[in-house]
Amino acid sequence: MKKIFAANWKLFKSPKETREFFTQFKEVAGKAKGELVFFPSAISLEAASTTLQGSAVKFGAQNCYSHAQGAFTGENSAQVLKDLGGTYVLIGHSERRKIFGENDTLIADKVAYVQSLGLTPMLCIGETLQEREDLKTYKVLDEQLHYGLAKADKTKPLVIAYEPVWAIGTGKVATPSQVEETHADVYAILTKLGFEESPILYGGSVKPDNAGGLIKIPHVDGFLVGGASLEVKSFIDIASAE
Ligand code: PGA
Repeated sequence: MKKIFAANWKLFKSPKETREFFTQFKEVAGKAKGELVFFPSAISLEAASTTLQGSAVKFGAQNCYSHAQGAFTGENSAQVLKDLGGTYVLIGHSERRKIFGENDTLIADKVAYVQSLGLTPMLCIGETLQEREDLKTYKVLDEQLHYGLAKADKTKPLVIAYEPVWAIGTGKVATPSQVEETHADVYAILTKLGFEESPILYGGSVKPDNAGGLIKIPHVDGFLVGGASLEVKSFIDIASAE
């Protein structure tokens, strides 16, 4: 399976900074050992679209609503993203779930809507530290996948990003054995649900110095990178690590 290296820029980088980043990044993108996908903030999507035109580097939105247009103040349209040339939408990131109160029903609607437009949802799942300590990791991931994929189409592309919440932005990366065990569990759940073809990315404090070890783990089909994706060098080092 082709690896996927995805960059979640969160609420960083203006349109100008986005253009500057991609102008530099295009020079080194060929070193990546898989597909590259960037998730700029909504206001910088058009800058990504114009700067990446003609390049194999893909981009998408960090969130979208489950309708193309309407009276939905503050939301993003996946249809407009598609018109700009975007191909992915990040759905259900833990920050969306926790800070913005997104639940599995809304997430399931978004996954189905994004697929219906021919775009690829990247569905994020992950347990909190408390849930891991209470030995509930499997149950939490099983529920997030069961409900999040309830309306998804098995015949259309879908990517899963497993991100332990306690490893996001904390510098506490999961150990290789935790990653191995949990990715095997995620694969087993996806197989049970009929989505075993979906790549499973790991996310949570991925850095150039741990990427080489993590990418070799079975069922790690790439990474979703936050902090370390904001610099050209660190992100291309991650995407070319071995
Ligand atoms: P991090 O973020 O790499 O900064 O931990 C990952 C993410 O939130 O997707």
